[in-house]
Amino acid sequence: MEPETLWVKVITSIHASNRKVELIPFKKSMSGVWKNIGEIVKDFTKNNININTNLRSIVGLGDKTLFWIDTWLGNEPLKVQFPNLYLLAVKKKSLVLENYKILNGGRMWDWVWLRAPTSEAEKQEMDNLMGRLQISEHQEFSVKNVKSSLGQRLDLNSAAYVFSWNNWVTGKCTTFVWRAIEEKIASAVALRNRGMNLPDIICKTCGAAEESAVHIPLRCNFAKRTWESVTNWLKIPMVNVEGSLKDLLLEMNEIQRSKGVRKAIYAVAIQTMWILWKTRNERVFKGRQGKVQTVLEEIKEASYPGVKLRSKHGSITRQEWWDFNI
Ligand SMILES: [Zn+2]
Repeated sequence: MEPETLWVKVITSIHASNRKVELIPFKKSMSGVWKNIGEIVKDFTKNNININTNLRSIVGLGDKTLFWIDTWLGNEPLKVQFPNLYLLAVKKKSLVLENYKILNGGRMWDWVWLRAPTSEAEKQEMDNLMGRLQISEHQEFSVKNVKSSLGQRLDLNSAAYVFSWNNWVTGKCTTFVWRAIEEKIASAVALRNRGMNLPDIICKTCGAAEESAVHIPLRCNFAKRTWESVTNWLKIPMVNVEGSLKDLLLEMNEIQRSKGVRKAIYAVAIQTMWILWKTRNERVFKGRQGKVQTVLEEIKEASYPGVKLRSKHGSITRQEWWDFNI
């Protein structure tokens, strides 16, 4: 059975306190937001992440929802909305998909009744139910089902979902950030969780908190001071160091600047996280005391080639980048 519409969960508005997530039908012919999503899918594909497989598997087929008992059409279960029909239904615990057949691409509803609906009340309910099902065909039915299927089959909070690829920084940096979001980097907390016997898991840099994956590139006092310098250089508001890495990237993606500048800012954010991690390693393993000013210089230096190479302003000079005059 081929579903006619693909529903995808899309983050349509991102602010620290108000994240709006909507389900939008995916049609290849659509423009605007779908064109952008098409681009993201292409990016993922380029990097060997098959997002299409994931998306196809989340299409609602009504295989999780009980037709009469679950609330999926209107605000109450159908057995409450259509009590006379419910009494007639033989399969009271059937799934939504057990009650229709696909014929010539259309959905034909078909129930097994104890007897045909005959009384006025039964016929009236039958007409209403059919009306509701037709109207809902492309609305509630799909949304409700996809919502439940989505929740079960795809981890909506996985990093892949919000992470847009950025080819202005090296794959090494991007991979690091991806792993950090998923707490797969070798922080003290992660090592202890893997069973390593560490004398303590307090951050060696600030000594103020446990060294988790999010602490090193964001919450640590050293990271905070670095982000202050970086955002100052980028001429953007200070990031929320109490949030998650994912939140930070989402915020960067929403900054109201031209597409090119936003991409540069995003690249710098990824670069910053990577360099904070490198700095931490040099401190832990080589005893080097990094300075915020040095780290900032290193971020500028490391991000310049990618921006110069990839951006439309290929002519950007070193000085312009250093002053963030782009
Ligand atoms: Zn720290």
